[in-house]
Amino acid sequence: MPATTTSTVAPTAAPAAPRAGTQIRLTDVVKDYGLAVPAVDGVSLTIEPGEFMTLLGPSGSGKTTTLNLIAGFETLTSGRIAFNGDDVSNLPPHKRDLGMLFQNYALFPHMTVAQNVAYPLRERKVSKAEITRRVAEVLELVQLTGRDDNVPSQLSGGQQQRVALARAIVFDPKALLLDEPLGALDRNLRGALQAEIQRIHREVGSTFVFVTHDQEEAMSLSDRIALFNSGRIEQVGSPETLYREPETLFTATFLGDSNVFELAQAPGSTVVWGDRTWAVEPRTVSDRARAAEHAALMVRPEDVRIAQRADEVPAGANAVPARVTDVHYLGSYRNVVLSYGGSDVVGQSRLDASETQLAVGQDVVAWWRVERQRVVSR
Ligand code: ADP
Ligand code: MG
Repeated sequence: MPATTTSTVAPTAAPAAPRAGTQIRLTDVVKDYGLAVPAVDGVSLTIEPGEFMTLLGPSGSGKTTTLNLIAGFETLTSGRIAFNGDDVSNLPPHKRDLGMLFQNYALFPHMTVAQNVAYPLRERKVSKAEITRRVAEVLELVQLTGRDDNVPSQLSGGQQQRVALARAIVFDPKALLLDEPLGALDRNLRGALQAEIQRIHREVGSTFVFVTHDQEEAMSLSDRIALFNSGRIEQVGSPETLYREPETLFTATFLGDSNVFELAQAPGSTVVWGDRTWAVEPRTVSDRARAAEHAALMVRPEDVRIAQRADEVPAGANAVPARVTDVHYLGSYRNVVLSYGGSDVVGQSRLDASETQLAVGQDVVAWWRVERQRVVSR
């Protein structure tokens, strides 16, 4: 009788002992190419040891420039960058000891997988025996054991990117910088590699700085997100904080869908939109909205409920008349498009997929709980 085995999934070996991650601190960092506005315009950010930090933002907002400043590929116009408290602002890239992963794999095409992965170790004059051991270990980590002697052209795009990832972490870098590394891959493969990157981050325990313009990717991977807007950081926080407690309309609308009511007056104990007056709880007003001249009230689609008549709205909820302009069945839920209060403000509500009572053109009342709304600056 074969021995029964109790463990079905063997844990993957982690390379050596993970070094306690490096803290990366940016202080008043500016990069000015002499354009109308600096590419990076006064960024201060502390990335904690072992943290998975994502730089998220629209194209041209300064994410890559910030990453290149951390790597030393670009020089600072002003400001300071420190690793574990040591100023590295004037250190050349090769002395910063960082791993890098880009969208294009940049593997050496004439070298085998093992030779590609060994390259940074050979440059660092690591012994032959140690190279053999570390390459085997890291190829196991990225699940490419047995592909040592293949050349890159014999591998799929996803496999090539895993080789590049192995090469970027094999020398136990101070931190791994990743610039849209999954951008060239199709949707399914991207999801699989996201999971890989997350697992590898957990196993090696080092600091990861990940650049993407994809908010879902940022939300699913990150400990914290720094949201970039025109060379500045709009807000830093956990995915949940940015989604549930945005400070500004930019943050609210960049991360997920929202129903937005632009307010004419600063928020008080109530807010006014057209002929509607809504109750406000102080803790749902962002600090930036408190100080701002212009504010907006926002509600997530999953928090907007629909009543057939005004007297069906629960006491204490905020409500607005709406017309159903579209209903989309999306499998796991039904998305209802609404136009609010006879205005051209369009919003949406997510209803249970089994909800079949609503017809396009129908007049309804949209409502939400006061604690589920947020007042943001705009
Ligand atoms: P992102 O990565 O967020 O898309 P980038 O950091 O690449 O943004 O670019 C930020 C801004 O800086 C853009 O306006 C871009 O055109 C400009 N920029 C980036 N690199 C250079 C450069 N080498 N020379 C001049 N302008 C640049
Ligand atoms: Mg970029």
